[in-house]
Amino acid sequence: MSNQHEYSFFQSVEKSFEKATKFTKWEKGLLEQIKACNSIYSMRFPVKMDDGRIEVIEAYRVQHSQHKSPCKGGIRFSDAVNQDEVMALASLMTYKCAIVNVPFGGAKGGIKINPRNHSVYELEKITRRYTSELVKKNFIGPGIDVPAPDYGTGEREMAWIVDTYASLKPGDIDAAGCVTGKPITQGGVRGRKEATGLGVFFGIREVCNMPDVMKRLGLTTGVEGKRVIVQGMGNVGYHCAKFFREHGSKVIAIAEYEGAIYNADGLNEEEVFQHRKATGSILNFPGATNLAKSSDALETECDILIPAALENVINGSNADRVKAKIIGEAANGPLTPEADEVFAKKGILVVPDMYLNAGGVTVSYFEWLKNLSHVRYGRMEKRFTENMNGKILEQIESLTGNKVSDAERKVIQHGPEEVDLVHSGLEETMISATREIMDIWHNNPEIPDMRTAAYVCAINKVGTSYAELGIFP
Ligand code: GLU
Repeated sequence: MSNQHEYSFFQSVEKSFEKATKFTKWEKGLLEQIKACNSIYSMRFPVKMDDGRIEVIEAYRVQHSQHKSPCKGGIRFSDAVNQDEVMALASLMTYKCAIVNVPFGGAKGGIKINPRNHSVYELEKITRRYTSELVKKNFIGPGIDVPAPDYGTGEREMAWIVDTYASLKPGDIDAAGCVTGKPITQGGVRGRKEATGLGVFFGIREVCNMPDVMKRLGLTTGVEGKRVIVQGMGNVGYHCAKFFREHGSKVIAIAEYEGAIYNADGLNEEEVFQHRKATGSILNFPGATNLAKSSDALETECDILIPAALENVINGSNADRVKAKIIGEAANGPLTPEADEVFAKKGILVVPDMYLNAGGVTVSYFEWLKNLSHVRYGRMEKRFTENMNGKILEQIESLTGNKVSDAERKVIQHGPEEVDLVHSGLEETMISATREIMDIWHNNPEIPDMRTAAYVCAINKVGTSYAELGIFP
């Protein structure tokens, strides 16, 4: 995916970082330390495939920063994985966690395979072997480095990881906290699956609720009625589309690697998903028009464009043709620095990946806390809150002589379930982060774009943390 004429992904991250340093007060050496990847584990291991062939698997785990422990970041399965990409993604994790006040350093892992080319059994063997390599080198553990899902991985892979880890660390009472994004039955938390997509929605909704920002873009406030295009129908893209649609936006186009579809009246992501499952493609969806190339969706007119797949999809060669007013980076690194420059000139608002897609790691943090505390969210307070709300309601009813309907009673009395607390913690996190970054941007007119403001925010937080730790002589 990388564009030969432009920077490598890691260089792009470095470039964006450097653009922001002049708006911070940290000395050069400390900035160098913040930017550098601390530990890089590049591995090769053999796996016997179903047909008896031995394949050498190329894989990585990069820990960008240990200014806070553990390190945190997903593991991707893709045949485009390489060390530079994993380094870039690990760096983004550090900045992302800092912005949303999740007390982790950044890390990322990658296995260079196309999961479509492997049987489930082969994938399990690869994942388990990768995990045991991480254990051998002390690159995984609830207090060391905690992986999670990313492109090409999900709950199933996380279940294999926790099982492998636990079997190699008998008696480790906190073993479940060695990885997040697990199935609920294996120590996962409710709300993790939709977290990144929901976080993207909360972040963009907050931006759309800022009257001055919307006025500058020539848009009305609120997400209702906005025309949204989503590129990528994986876990993140699917949930982005779902939450925008449920809140009154119109998802007018959806792109996948086999092509794109368009319907000015709006598409239903679940129906598109089922159609793809049944036919193997999103194309020829009833009522929609096929777009000739998948990338055409990126260049179709809309209010909000959500790239939710891989990096570098909008670059110097196509940025000029993008007609969106707001670009919400649900993927990691979908825009190159060249694209940033084009959009800054045109006044298109780019809401940057490094905080916008932080919903995943935020809820991962909640999952990790749940694992360490060994208790489900809501277990202690749900019943208490319901009883208390019931008593308050009774008093109000007797004082006013009015009775609420059964449906209203249910809503008012409801005590928090795990998923309610997780969603509410995520909403609070995304709203605060959006406001914090916007404030940094608005208080310094020299800062060219929201990404640079986000980097300033991240660098200041990581810098403060290093300063508090003290640097060894
Ligand atoms: N892979 C996700 C990301 O890029 C989630 C990471 C995590 O939960 O640790 O942010």
